[in-house]
Amino acid sequence: MPLLVCSAMSCIYNRGEYCSKGDITVGGKEAGQPEETCCESFMARRGNEVTDSAGVPSATIHVGCKACHCQYNEEQCCTASKVDIDGASAKEKDETQCGTFCCCCGK
Ligand code: SF4
Repeated sequence: MPLLVCSAMSCIYNRGEYCSKGDITVGGKEAGQPEETCCESFMARRGNEVTDSAGVPSATIHVGCKACHCQYNEEQCCTASKVDIDGASAKEKDETQCGTFCCCCGK
């Protein structure tokens, strides 16, 4: 499982840049660049809502991934050693992206 660091602090699962969800799914079936991916598991925190997910933040996490043009994608699972999810100002999932995406399709 990759080490995952996530800058989307507005996500209810984010605890100090670690994810507490347990697993995530990255979207971007047709993606040819990082901007065309997103964390589909992102869930925006509302107002002052504090995370009440039962999960414990973890440095490593299972990452399912639909971005099949990424060189780290093997049968919809991420094989990268480290994944950076970017989204410091994200208010919705489409404003996040996998910064580790690396296209293997020459786009
Ligand atoms: S590094 Fe590639 S395979 Fe891994 S989550 Fe990001 S886009 Fe998906």
